[in-house]
Amino acid sequence: MSQTSKRDRRDKSPEPIREHLRLLCDEIKSSIDYRAFYLSFSTETRISGGRLHGLCPIPSHAHSGAGNPSFSVDLARGLFHCFSRDEGGDVFRFYELMHGVSFSRAVSELAAQLGIESNAPQHEHLPLRLRSAPDADSDETNSGAEPLDPTHTADICTEFVRLCAREDQSEGYGYLKRRGIGEGVITSARVVYFPRRAYSRVMRLMTTAFDSAELRRSGLFNQREHLTFYRHRLLFPFHEKGDKSRAIYLQARTTAPGVHPRWHNMRGAVPSLYNASALAGLPDDSIVYLVEGFTDTLTLITHKFAAVGIVGAGGLRAEWIKELARFRVVSLLDPDAAGERATARYAEMFAKDGMQLARVALPYDVNDYFRARPSAALELTLLTEVALEAQ
Ligand SMILES: [Zn+2]
Repeated sequence: MSQTSKRDRRDKSPEPIREHLRLLCDEIKSSIDYRAFYLSFSTETRISGGRLHGLCPIPSHAHSGAGNPSFSVDLARGLFHCFSRDEGGDVFRFYELMHGVSFSRAVSELAAQLGIESNAPQHEHLPLRLRSAPDADSDETNSGAEPLDPTHTADICTEFVRLCAREDQSEGYGYLKRRGIGEGVITSARVVYFPRRAYSRVMRLMTTAFDSAELRRSGLFNQREHLTFYRHRLLFPFHEKGDKSRAIYLQARTTAPGVHPRWHNMRGAVPSLYNASALAGLPDDSIVYLVEGFTDTLTLITHKFAAVGIVGAGGLRAEWIKELARFRVVSLLDPDAAGERATARYAEMFAKDGMQLARVALPYDVNDYFRARPSAALELTLLTEVALEAQ
């Protein structure tokens, strides 16, 4: 019955609805991260040459799971194909097959997951994803307001982390565990998450605890008095040295496929390397890996390696290098052109301080490497020995 009435309604005004769906499809395709999207469904995956290969997850195919991986995705175009059943298509077709829904339902649900407003734009007030958007150029032109000082920023970060930790952590933990990061490591790094349904509550509690001008200047809130961490709700705190209960800075990532940018952070400069607070406990001459980002840092820690992370390939600051002087430092930056250039530049910065930076080049980024290869830890140990001997 409902099928018929739905079809009737569509038939009365087919053109505007078709146009609306087409626009939504375009917006979804321009913002989705195909790699993250398909990775969240397929298992036993590997990625090479711009393609993802893995076990086909489509329920109606009823694969036994015993045969060869038959599922392949062209990551640039987002097109999938199952060789075993010779069925394929775009991301919308995939979603239809995965959830047994119609095309229009697939489009509107994907839009909702990506934070794209799928209602026709007839209402006046802005959708939450826009109300929560960080102020443009916040660091330079935010009506002359300086970023908040470090002490008050830390007060706000610490309270925000505390409030988020009281919410349901399962989505955030699930996201990291699927990337092979150990639960003990997640807890110890005090990574916290809050589900979207907790957004209003967390926002309200922060508003009662702090002055709104301070919240704005810290970057946690925007000029519309909304919490800016709306699409980015998996929070990675930077801790004060010697006091893990105190967060001095936060960077957060989205766990939804296709949200851009992937990251959001407080205003003001990144205060240190990620996980730098853990260096104090390490003996002299320990091997410390320099990696890009949080997931890679936590991946190495999961496998009992010491690591610190930089935010973005170019993010290492000269004043942080001296903290690393008593260690043997090995760069594991991403194996792309940006990673190559950054490593060369960092090696020069290290040399200026009379230090050395060794480099191990893995075939892909650290997290992918550890997920793809059961012997990754042993291989990394051997490659590191070679790199250090070559110095
Ligand atoms: Zn299949």
